[in-house]
Amino acid sequence: MVEKFQDHQIRDAIKINYKYTMGGQSKFFIEVMKNKKLFGTKCTKCGKTWMPPRTSCSDCYEPTDWVELNQTGTINVSTIVWYTTSAFIKAVPYGIGFIKLDGAETALLQGIFSENLVPSKIKKGKRVRAVFNKEREGKMTDFFFVPEDEYESWISKPEFEGGV
Ligand SMILES: [Zn+2]
Repeated sequence: MVEKFQDHQIRDAIKINYKYTMGGQSKFFIEVMKNKKLFGTKCTKCGKTWMPPRTSCSDCYEPTDWVELNQTGTINVSTIVWYTTSAFIKAVPYGIGFIKLDGAETALLQGIFSENLVPSKIKKGKRVRAVFNKEREGKMTDFFFVPEDEYESWISKPEFEGGV
C-alpha cells in the first residue's frame, strides 16, 4: 500500500483484484501494441465512424466493421491536469482532451503532452498527432497525442516512436 503521497497527487490507494476481458474491443489494443495503428469502427448501415470503437452503432444499433484511422486529429476540448492518481503522477502537469481523429465522427479522450505545456498549445481546434511508447502493453497509455509541430521532436526521444 502506498503510504507517502507526492504534491499534486490525489490520495488514491486502491487495490482491486479483477479479471477483465477486452471482448469485442481487443483488436484496438492489439493493433496499438503490435502495429502502432489506431482502429475505429464503421457502422455497416449508416457509415458513422466510431472512435473509441464500438461493436454496434449507438445511433442505429447495427454491427460495425473495423477501419484504420489516421493518427492525426483535432482537439475538441482539453484541460491541463495538475492533480492526478499515482498512475500518472510523474507526468504532471499534462493535458488531456477529447480528440477527433481525421476520418472519425466521435472523439477519443486521451493524454496530450507538450514540451511547452500552456493552454494555447492544446486548445480547441489545435492539430495533434499520436506518439507511441516503444514498450507497449496493449493499454490506453501506450500512446498519447502531441501538438503536430512537436511530433518530430517527440519521436526522436529514445522511449517514443511514431506510428505506422
Ligand atoms: Zn449506424
